[in-house]
Amino acid sequence: MIRVAIIGYGNLGRGVERALKQNADMELAGVFSRREPATVQTDGASAYPLAELEDYKEKLDVCILCGGSATDLPIQTPAITKNFNTIDSFDTHAKIPEHFANVDRVAKEHQTVSIISTGWDPGLFSLNRLYAQSILPEGETYTFWGKGVSQGHSDALRRIVGVADAIQYTIPNNDVIEKLKAGEKMNLTTRDKHLRECFVVLAEGADEEAIRQEIVTMPNYFDEYDTTVHFISAEALKRDHQAMPHGGTVLRTGTTHEKTKQVIEYNLQLESNPEFTASVLVAYARACARLAKEKRYGAFTVLDIAPSYLSPIDDATLRRE
Ligand code: NDP
Repeated sequence: MIRVAIIGYGNLGRGVERALKQNADMELAGVFSRREPATVQTDGASAYPLAELEDYKEKLDVCILCGGSATDLPIQTPAITKNFNTIDSFDTHAKIPEHFANVDRVAKEHQTVSIISTGWDPGLFSLNRLYAQSILPEGETYTFWGKGVSQGHSDALRRIVGVADAIQYTIPNNDVIEKLKAGEKMNLTTRDKHLRECFVVLAEGADEEAIRQEIVTMPNYFDEYDTTVHFISAEALKRDHQAMPHGGTVLRTGTTHEKTKQVIEYNLQLESNPEFTASVLVAYARACARLAKEKRYGAFTVLDIAPSYLSPIDDATLRRE
């Protein structure tokens, strides 16, 4: 049995608790939170103060870190890797090399294993881009995201004076995807690849047209996209926009001998982004426990992990089946 702890209990932490229930070879030892345990509403798991985690050193095989990438994981992953094998879903793409180096140093020094930046992007999408580029060296790779909620863009909308609440969906341009798959050569701009759809609740007295203009011209967030803005009531936002769907497509179009056309497509359609990301973390937690047993200390990303390490099925059976 692989003994697991959840570190940090937000959307992802809740998803990991659910995912562990589908994996018979793993057991949840507890949730560790910075908040007062009595205030953490789990789906049944016991909650403990994060400050007491070290007391469980002999009782845990892997800690699944579910903190936020912006400020939690850069501190928590190296700190907790001093005493435990860890998994995280660090997704600040530009800072992954720095995060990897920090965690690798700690893991090698303290003889632990850490698999960082698992999830789907980074994570499964990174893996599929690597497979596709290695198999079809002559070609182009495209990544499309959505339809899904972008937290960053939703936050940007909510910061506008006159906006009471809002949510933003990123939508892939399916016409472009179909043309690429058909072999059309295209020079794509940011505007061509994705559309942005906003659902906005106005604060009292706010001017609809002025807010619409402010949104569609917002630099870095909306000005380079075709953006649609819908004004809705607070009730409608609560009723119709609480789910956290996401997904996307990694596409590689290439040619092999002469002009023989080849297309590789990897597509995810997720009703719940955090529940899916959590399921990926749990599969990689299994790999983490196995690497630790083999004393292969240090940091890894999904690109370094053999697929069979994700499976609860033994290698001989996997080969046979
Ligand atoms: P949340 O904001 O829900 O949770 C982050 C942390 O905030 C928790 O670990 C928790 O720590 C704390 N927290 C949660 N709820 C509360 C609350 N009510 N009051 C106070 N503190 C709270 O983030 P998510 O779980 O949605 O996402 C975590 C990270 O996952 C994201 O930052 C993102 O980087 C990553 N991610 C990665 C993906 C990938 O494909 N690689 C995909 C999706 C997400 P504590 O319990 O200690 O207080």
